[in-house]
Amino acid sequence: MTPADRVRAAVAAVTDPELRRPIGDLDMVRDITVHDGTAHVGIVLTIVGCPAAQRIEQDVRTAAASVPDVTDVNVDVGVMTPDERRALTEKLRAGRPARQMPFGPDSLTRVILVSSGKGGVGKSTITANLAVALAQQGLRVGLVDADVHGFSIPGLLGIAPGTQPTRIDDLMLPPVAHEVKTVSIGMFLREGEEVVAWRGPMLHRTVQQFLTDVFFGDLDVLLIDMPPGTGDIAISIGQILPHAEVLVVTTPQSAASDVAIRSGLVARQTGQKVIGVVENMAAFTLPDGTLVDLFGAGGGAEVAGALSSDAEAVPLLASIPLSPALRQGGDAGIPVVLDDPDDLAAHAIIELARTIAQRGRGLAGRSLPMRLT
Ligand code: ADP
Repeated sequence: MTPADRVRAAVAAVTDPELRRPIGDLDMVRDITVHDGTAHVGIVLTIVGCPAAQRIEQDVRTAAASVPDVTDVNVDVGVMTPDERRALTEKLRAGRPARQMPFGPDSLTRVILVSSGKGGVGKSTITANLAVALAQQGLRVGLVDADVHGFSIPGLLGIAPGTQPTRIDDLMLPPVAHEVKTVSIGMFLREGEEVVAWRGPMLHRTVQQFLTDVFFGDLDVLLIDMPPGTGDIAISIGQILPHAEVLVVTTPQSAASDVAIRSGLVARQTGQKVIGVVENMAAFTLPDGTLVDLFGAGGGAEVAGALSSDAEAVPLLASIPLSPALRQGGDAGIPVVLDDPDDLAAHAIIELARTIAQRGRGLAGRSLPMRLT
């Protein structure tokens, strides 16, 4: 191998942070020469102003400099021609036609909707942490924030306000946070626009469009943070993804149970399968051993019992205690499952992720491939 070949091999292995593939595979590496210890490396990016540009350039520089006898590196950054970009988007789609929703019944991706009867029960906090915990366990995870009342997922994952998916022609690449590919319906709003004011058909079109146009690549799991209750979005998603699985989040409070049960029943009416109930804000223990059950006890089991039938048991999959660390992690954009995995709430969510990954896919009985990467 010549020095230029060695530099090429090192540079080709650099990963594009958005496309999650080596830039060599993405045909982004151009001419490479080495003269008197100086490596001249040409790369092309997909679009002008690509948000990942600086990171890619830096990683390319580091990769080239790691080759023995290279003492200096010059990186020449260009932009793909429209034809090159078209070839790339075709390659990424791997034969899948554009404008086709990739999460149909034949897809290998498990789609899990996280619903609740009412707001404020911690549904988004649990969803964000669950997504990160599943990614930590080696799964390829996507997360869609469809909670039109809140759009809290980007903040919970530390995605800067105003962050948008990167567009490569008609392909939209979701931002990646803590290894989770994340889009929020809030990223698709025009300035001053509010989704809550949209009528049913408009919501339906938008949800369908962004499930179709956002390019997640191959995923093991797609989590969808649903709006609370049984409104238009829940019905639209029920129609678009009738094979989806549903997790119902509730608090231990009896009063919260009725609405949570209803949200599970409505999901089931569209053909979705309720895979379990998660009780959040459960009792926590003070250092002196006193149990504090701020929101009562038993709500999770009550909802699971009401959603179970002779034909199908719906288990209580987790009971997550009240936890200052869980809330603080959400406020800081650093999920507690990463920052403080020994926290009791974090621990319960990590176990929940393990249970979900191991239980495999409800209806089709296909289990998730566990990967060690
Ligand atoms: P939802 O999505 O159901 O509306 P959020 O996830 O936004 O609810 O949570 C509501 C509030 O409760 C947030 O401030 C969040 O940090 C806090 N929270 C959620 N779960 C817990 C918990 N187990 N312990 C302490 N605070 C929690």
